[in-house]
Parts: sequence; structure tokens; C-alpha cells
Amino acid sequence: MNTEKKALFTIFGGTGDLAKRKLYPSLYRLYKKGYLKKQFAVIGTARREWTDDFYREIVIDSIRDITDSPEHALKFASHFYYQSHNVTDVNHYDTLKKLSNKLDEEYQLNGNRLFYLAMSPNFFGIISQNLKDRDLITTCGFNRLIIEKPFGHDFESALKLNNQIRASFEENQIYRIDHYLGKEMVQNISAVRFGNYIIESMWNSRYIDNIQITLSESLGVEERGGYYDTSGALRDMLQNHILQIISLLAMEPPTRLEDKEIRTEKIKALRAVRLFEPNEVTGHMVRGQYGPSLDDSSENLNGYREEINVAPDSQTETFVAGKILIDNFRWMDVPFYFRTGKRLAKKGTQIDIEFKNVPLNLFDNNDEPLPANILTIYIQPTEGFSLELNTKKIGLGLETETLKLEHKHSAETTANSPEAYEKLILDCLNGDSTNFTHWDEVATSWKFVDVIREHWDNETVNFPNYASGSMGPTASEQLLITDGFKWHWCPNEK
Ligand code: NAD
Repeated sequence: MNTEKKALFTIFGGTGDLAKRKLYPSLYRLYKKGYLKKQFAVIGTARREWTDDFYREIVIDSIRDITDSPEHALKFASHFYYQSHNVTDVNHYDTLKKLSNKLDEEYQLNGNRLFYLAMSPNFFGIISQNLKDRDLITTCGFNRLIIEKPFGHDFESALKLNNQIRASFEENQIYRIDHYLGKEMVQNISAVRFGNYIIESMWNSRYIDNIQITLSESLGVEERGGYYDTSGALRDMLQNHILQIISLLAMEPPTRLEDKEIRTEKIKALRAVRLFEPNEVTGHMVRGQYGPSLDDSSENLNGYREEINVAPDSQTETFVAGKILIDNFRWMDVPFYFRTGKRLAKKGTQIDIEFKNVPLNLFDNNDEPLPANILTIYIQPTEGFSLELNTKKIGLGLETETLKLEHKHSAETTANSPEAYEKLILDCLNGDSTNFTHWDEVATSWKFVDVIREHWDNETVNFPNYASGSMGPTASEQLLITDGFKWHWCPNEK
């Protein structure tokens, strides 16, 4: 039996894309599972003048594909209230406070409040300040603030933003979303490592040659060109998702699987990431921007510079790859390669862990070294694992072949696995911040990224440098070839 959570949700940006596509469906799933029952209410806010009825129709529309029945959807939507609210208008917070207090009493919410900032980060500071100044933060119950990415665009701006928010909320009340941390298989990294002695005992530089992380998107920037052109892949992906995944892969075993313990270990791992000197950036990092698809491709796709709201001479990278080194006992000299980009050959996120070769090949394989064992963690769209092992080929002689032991969750299991946002909202209701990013992690990540950004901003680059539908620029392949490795996942090779 799932325990019912009591809370008032206030969603800033209640008419926006994120609210409609992710937040309302996630709240509905929690409702279906009984985590939300009678004692919850949601206030959606944005500048527009909407009625409660109109807002409820929008909510119902957003959950159309996952509803049990129209009656159930209606009952769920009856908990939703709309309040027209301009976040920069101080007086509007008084109206919001009145409605909040009324709903708190009506639904007996005991002062539990969850404020979800689903809008531009430019407003995070002013909203949190007004929530405090205009007394929307209760003195009984919990008050938690969920913040969307991006958290700043460099260390300085992130620090300024953090100071603004910290003037109203304590660190333990702030939940910075990185939706990758809500993904089933990202959370599974800890289960694989710490639930299997066989794996964890080999999880170090003695047995692992290199680790490869790929977050590949097949779509281009679509209609987000305006935002993306000011951000780029480095800020959009490395600072948060990729460094978070690396910290989970690299951290030491925590003493307990609890937020404080895990966070301590993640921060230690991030602090051990080697910062580049400006002259080391070029040798360790690769940037790319997609051009049109190749002439012989079946699809005729535009290059990034032809996308809507993108400068025709844009220097923004849509691809980034790199080699990260972690200076500690466990990981000395083991490269963590990563690549991420738009318009790549195939959509998918996976981690490939390449183990060291056996010291001597005893088999009849023409003096070729045996292929390395590879453990793959599939994160999306498929979820699962595979392990490549060398075994004897059936027949005379002692030749080997590589077998792949693979488990991929069925499409049905994957479809039923909780949405990242659903898990994260529930975590927040439970006061569990394990899968959110702490300020120390944000700060350390920005310091790493800032060196690269500054170096890149001072050099013009010859873009575009990879074709839509490829796996990025050739320099990304070269990054590994120089070290005697190659990308394990090559969706273009059959
Ligand atoms: P959006 O532009 O669709 O929505 C923004 C919302 O803010 C709208 O409801 C708008 O009316 C409201 N708004 C703007 N100015 C306002 C003001 N002065 N007062 C009150 N309301 C105002 O944006 P989105 O795509 O929903 O993104 C919201 C946040 O979530 C951003 O930080 C974004 O980076 C992050 N995010 C979005 C997605 C996504 O899939 N959409 C994914 C990850 C992160």
C-alpha cells in the first residue's frame, strides 16, 4: 500500500511545455498509484488569465493517453486551480498566498508546500525571494523548491543564482533537477556496482581500461534554436548529465544508500576530476556542429546554421566529446570518454565499460589479442545490460568467439517503468534528495566546464564539421584512436 503524501504544489510556468508534457502526467501517475489521493492540491500559475475550468481541461488533455477513465481524470483534475500571476509583480504573491492558505485548509495539507519553478531560470531568484518576503513559506510542514535546469551558465552566474535562492531557502530545501538522475538505469548503476561483488571488485584501474559514455540524439535542435544557440552541448549536457553519470560511475561505495552518504562520495569523485589547463583543452576535448546530411543519405536534413533562430555563422557546438581523467587511487590513468550530440546516427544513451585484455592470448586466434570484455549499461531507449565474453568456438581446435550475454527489459516493462519526473517528484515529497544535484556538485562541475568554454570562446572554429546522421566529427574517433581505443558503440557500422 503506497503512503499518501500531503502537499500543495505550486507550479510556476503552469501553462508551459514542461508542465504539460511532464509534470501533469507525472502527478497523475502518482495519483493512480495512490501516492496522491485526497489531500493534495495544485496551483498552476502563469501570466495568462485562465479560469480553473479551462486549466483543468488542459490538465486532462495532457494525461489523455494514460488515464484510466474520463471520470478518473476529472476527479484528478478537480485538485487543480489556476492563478494568473506575473512573477515580477510583488502584489501578485499576496493573491497567491490567499489561495494557498485557503487550499491548505480545505485539503488539510498541514503547511506542506512544494514550489516547482518550471520557467526560465532568470526568474528563479525573484520567485524565491518573493516566496519568502510575502510569507508563502509556511512555518509548519515542509517547504521545498524544485528548480529546473540550467542552473547558471558558468560558475559565477550559478553562484549568484545560488546566493539569491539561499537567501530564502536552505540547501536541504532546494531540489535541483537533473532528469537523468531519475532514469531507471542511471539509478541502476549503484545496484550493479554495489549489489555484485564480482563487478565492484573489478571496478578500478587494475581491470578497467576505459569507460565510454554516449548520449546521442538523432533529432536536431528543432524549434529550440533560439535557446540552444546561447547554450550549446557543453553547457547543456556535460555540466550536468554527463558529469553526474561520471560521478556515479566513479564514486567510492557509500556506507549507506542515503542522500548524504551518496552525495559525499559523488562530490569527492567530482573533485578528483582533473581540471584542464587552457593548453590541454584541445588534446582532450572535441567540439562539433552538424551540417546537412550526406548527399547519398535518404533524408535531406538542414545543417544547424540553417535552423530557425540560429545565427548563419553560429559558433555554437551541437556535439561535444572528451576524455576525462580522475586523479585518485581507483581511477588513475583510466580515461572516461564521453560524447553527446544532436543529429547523430541513432538516439540512445549507453555506457560501455571496457575491461583490460588478458595478459597473454593462449588460443588459436592468429596471434590477435582477444577482444576485451565489455559491460554495457543501456539507459535509453532500451534499458538493460550486456556482457561480452570470449568463449571457445564449437569445433576442432581452440579458436575463440565473443558471446554477448544480454538482458534488455521488455518494451512493456520499459513502458511501465516510472517516468524520471514521476520518481523525482515522489523523492521530493519524501524529502529524499539523492537524485538531485547539491550546490557543491553544481559548483565543481561549472569550474571544470568554464575552463573549456573560455578556451573555446577565444578561438574560431571551422563549423560545420559533421554530417547529420553521422556519429560526430572524425576528431571524436581520433580522440580514442590516439590512446589505442575505439568507440565501442558504432550504430553506423553494421
Ligand atoms: P515554456 O516557455 O514552455 O514555459 C514557460 C512558462 O513560464 C510559461 O507558462 C509562461 O507563461 C511562464 N512565464 C513566462 N514569463 C512569466 C512571468 N513573467 N510571470 C509568470 N509566468 C511567466 O518553457 P518550458 O519548456 O516549460 O521550460 C521551463 C523550464 O524547464 C526551463 O527552465 C527549461 O530549461 C526547463 N526544462 C524544460 C524541458 C522541456 O522539456 N520543456 C526539459 C528540461 C528542462
